[in-house]
Amino acid sequence: MSDVISHYINGKIMAGASGRRGDIYNPAIGEVIRQVDFADASEVQTAVDAAQAAFPGWAANPPLRRARVMFRMKELLERNIDALARLVSEEHGKTVEDAKGSITRGIEVVECACGIPHLLKGEFTEDVGTGVDSYSMRQPLGVVAGITPFNFPAMIPLWMSPIAMACGNTFILKPSEKDPSFAMRLAELYKEAGLPDGVFNVVHGDKDAVNGILSNPGIQAVSFVGATATAEYIYHTGVAHNKRVQALGGAKNHMVIMPDADMSQVTDAIMGAGYGSAGERCMAISVAVAVGDHVADDLVKRLMPRVQALKVGPGSDPDTEMGPLVSKVHYDKVMGYIDAGIREGAELALDGRELTLQGYENGYFMGGSIFDRVTTDMSIYKEEIFGPVLSVVRAPDYGTAAKMVSDHEYGNGAAIFTRDGDTARHFVNSTQTGMVGVNVPIPVPMAFHSFGGWKRSLFGDHHMHGPEGVRFYTKMKAVTSRWPGGIREGADFNIPTMG
Ligand code: NAD
Repeated sequence: MSDVISHYINGKIMAGASGRRGDIYNPAIGEVIRQVDFADASEVQTAVDAAQAAFPGWAANPPLRRARVMFRMKELLERNIDALARLVSEEHGKTVEDAKGSITRGIEVVECACGIPHLLKGEFTEDVGTGVDSYSMRQPLGVVAGITPFNFPAMIPLWMSPIAMACGNTFILKPSEKDPSFAMRLAELYKEAGLPDGVFNVVHGDKDAVNGILSNPGIQAVSFVGATATAEYIYHTGVAHNKRVQALGGAKNHMVIMPDADMSQVTDAIMGAGYGSAGERCMAISVAVAVGDHVADDLVKRLMPRVQALKVGPGSDPDTEMGPLVSKVHYDKVMGYIDAGIREGAELALDGRELTLQGYENGYFMGGSIFDRVTTDMSIYKEEIFGPVLSVVRAPDYGTAAKMVSDHEYGNGAAIFTRDGDTARHFVNSTQTGMVGVNVPIPVPMAFHSFGGWKRSLFGDHHMHGPEGVRFYTKMKAVTSRWPGGIREGADFNIPTMG
């Protein structure tokens, strides 16, 4: 990668013109490794011009031809996955293996987009009236944009762009300014796969670039993933500019642990779901609701040695289980939540704050922490921490635990661990979250289903990728047709009916 990451517009790298740039860090060493240009509204306009010019030609391709580009893209991503994963790990901090897993989840969306000829099929009714046929079709919107967060620099752009473009749209990506390099490789690989210039563009930047996207009349729809405060702003501003918007926000995912659960499976599940990627996943389990004091005592006892033994280190070390946090600002924020939890009266059963790694003294490393006896009025329960900090809440019975999950302002995912079918079924049917797991800690739907939360975890009407992605990126047209042979003579001034 070059020292400065610039925009990618109309099939070419385009140096930034705004004069503003941001630093990109390697969080394992706490040093700036390169910089990224920040676009302003006029650079966004250049990308919109390119995407608008490319749209008619791209949309006119039969879906099968667009699918063939996705087939080649799948192969290219697979061939390059090792280098791509190292790039993600370098700027984000997660382990290379974890980065590889996230790219694989993105490749699965590309695979889903290969089926676009089938996904775009409409419905047809012969003879809705005598000699009259009716059918529906889904057509692309035009230029659409994606604004993505730091925590999945590969997977989330791949949740959006393959489906959007397979539907016939042209795309502008504004990746996170913290780890923007993957987006450039993505653009190059799309070109190598045969995507025409201007169909996929990248503009980098911060809120100036985002505001340039939200106010640009040439952009028809915006997909966003990030923090809830940003998601709410993006949704309302985008809608005020007459755009279609799906804005996915933050989360506080609960895992309810019933007394009949297999505690060894529960412990394994919490280790991965709570501390994987240093807790910087929107589907991370950050709250364990233990039903009964004996379940809570057992859980904390089992977790303590496991969390203490977590191998914390740079993401590039194959032995590392948990890498650093993404930035100093975020590190300080997570530290602040641990202080707040202590102040508010939670029991800090395991304190991960004191951790320095030889040779990585300036990295943003933190050990895993466990808070016990967390209550629903505490900030560490109410707010998203997005770090390796688990809150254990004690509930006297299932009803209290289930109500807690549903009453939380976030509604991304929730899981229950139990052997009891009735309890699991009740949880699945009544929980107020968009995704639910039964003995599955991170219930992220596969690419051919759709991903999304409820309440303050998603603003808008559509979830991402799968069938909901196709609906979001297309508009429906209903056609009623009759040929001259079926037309009766004479004008009819009444509303047409079947009769
Ligand atoms: P963020 O909201 O800070 O940034 C996301 C994007 O918005 C970035 O591209 C950023 O440049 C832009 N942005 C930031 N502040 C802005 C502002 N004031 N105005 C306009 N644009 C702005 O989020 P993040 O810290 O990069 O990502 C972490 C958050 O994303 C967490 O809250 C996490 O839960 C959430 N997330 C949610 C999902 C989901 O599917 N629901 C998935 C991944 C991450």
